[in-house]
Amino acid sequence: MVDFLQILKEHNIKRTKYRMAILELLIKEEYRFISIDEIQDRVSSDFSTAYRALELFEENEMIYKTKINEKMYYSYRCSNKEYHHHLICTECGLKVSLDFCPFEDLEKKCETLGFGSFHHSRDLFGICKKCKNES
Ligand SMILES: [Zn+2]
Ligand SMILES: [Zn+2]
Ligand SMILES: [Zn+2]
Repeated sequence: MVDFLQILKEHNIKRTKYRMAILELLIKEEYRFISIDEIQDRVSSDFSTAYRALELFEENEMIYKTKINEKMYYSYRCSNKEYHHHLICTECGLKVSLDFCPFEDLEKKCETLGFGSFHHSRDLFGICKKCKNES
């Protein structure tokens, strides 16, 4: 049983009904990214309440956020706290954690072009097997 109140306390976040509900939802569905529309819908809050709670969680590194089709999506942080990449389904939001960096070789090649100080995005997007079969 996850202690939501304890998680909020650890981050010095004041408990509110919606913060608790949003945290509970994100933990329950930690295997995927959920759109802010769905979050708002499922906890019956208005947009700005959901948005403020999610921004607060993100600032405290409790969740990840990403953009799919110009919309914000959120997902609870992985148990793997190290920086790692996510493969994300743009249809259902499924989140797969990668244990390797897909850009390492590319960056090595780019060094030969005289570039340095590379940085790259955490997220890689595609369509998962299940969604591919459904379309
Ligand atoms: Zn999918
Ligand atoms: Zn992950
Ligand atoms: Zn990387």
